[in-house]
Amino acid sequence: MRGKRALVAGGAGFIGCVLTEKLVEQGYSVVVVDNLSTGCKEKISHLVDGKRCVFFQHDIVNPIDFQVDLIVNLACPASPPAYQKDPIQTLKTSVIGSLNLLELARKHRAKIVQASTSEVYGSPLKHPQSENYWGNVNPIGIRSCYDEGKRAAETLFFDYHRQYGIDIKIMRIFNTYGPQMDIDDGRAVSNFVKQAVLNEPITIYGDGKQTRSFCYVDDLVYGIMKLINVSADFTGPVNIGNSEEITLRTLAEEIKMLANSSSPIIFKALPSDDPQNRKPDLTLAHEVLGWEPKISREYGLLKTIEFFRQTLSNKKNHKHQEVSL
Ligand code: NAD
Ligand code: UDP
Repeated sequence: MRGKRALVAGGAGFIGCVLTEKLVEQGYSVVVVDNLSTGCKEKISHLVDGKRCVFFQHDIVNPIDFQVDLIVNLACPASPPAYQKDPIQTLKTSVIGSLNLLELARKHRAKIVQASTSEVYGSPLKHPQSENYWGNVNPIGIRSCYDEGKRAAETLFFDYHRQYGIDIKIMRIFNTYGPQMDIDDGRAVSNFVKQAVLNEPITIYGDGKQTRSFCYVDDLVYGIMKLINVSADFTGPVNIGNSEEITLRTLAEEIKMLANSSSPIIFKALPSDDPQNRKPDLTLAHEVLGWEPKISREYGLLKTIEFFRQTLSNKKNHKHQEVSL
């Protein structure tokens, strides 16, 4: 019997590289499709061998054709500064990119998994957020290219499911962090950890009383694997995240303490439309996938700090080598 073939769009990004490794480990042959806008090839270079894992540089805004059984769509910048840099491209990626991948699923009768987001709930008026909440999203703000793009993508997925019987799975991912994050991507965890490791000021936007619930990447990827393997009649959407809610102020203090850092904590302006609270209701994930996150924030943050220290020291050594050449 031939092996299972997967296409991971966005596989050279933070979550994508961890998922690709897991799929290869589980016996899939994987095509990583990525335009390298926020990802980089180095994240998967240890996996790419031309057989079990191949890399194809491509923008999913343009159609693509590979013979596959499974498609996972992670392609889309996830950090607010990254997705706001070229909002039109962000919207095109979510809408036209999803359309192209759904057409591919239709052609090859492949299963297709969509990385949606807690951002579909916008600035939620319901707390915690369960999947039956329709959200509170500004359609014309600076976050809209991402939020509305992901919402439109969910609509497309469901229409392909209803109209063509495509086996779709939608996961709504909540804030995820861990090793392999881009140290310059501008999200709270990556900024705070980098700043703490360098003993530079830790920048809190607003008063730091806003909350998020942070999930370690290995927990998330385990949840994605569960979703891939669940029966065809389950479409989602299903929340995947960690329900331990924390203020950004506490997160900054925790990271400072765990990194043994002398960084001062400073306050900067809060960007517009920044959601005040966010916490997933994980009942559905628990019931249908038998999944819940297991990794403590302390362990996850320590692993992330270790990765950032290593990455920053490699960068420093590289610079020294360049200067002495
Ligand atoms: P990331 O920015 O590290 O990875 C995204 C990857 O997609 C990158 O490798 C990038 O180069 C690629 N990409 C972007 N646009 C593309 C395009 N048009 N064509 C091909 N490739 C493209 O982000 P991440 O944190 O790994 O997020 C992965 C997915 O998970 C995204 O879809 C994101 O919306 C979703 N998500 C992530 C989080 C989180 O906290 N990390 C939360 C909710 C949802
Ligand atoms: N944030 C912050 N300092 C930073 C980066 C982000 O205080 O250096 C805040 C941001 O305003 C938001 C929260 O941290 O309230 C989470 O931001 P992130 O970009 O990680 O994710 P998202 O806003 O998409 O949940």
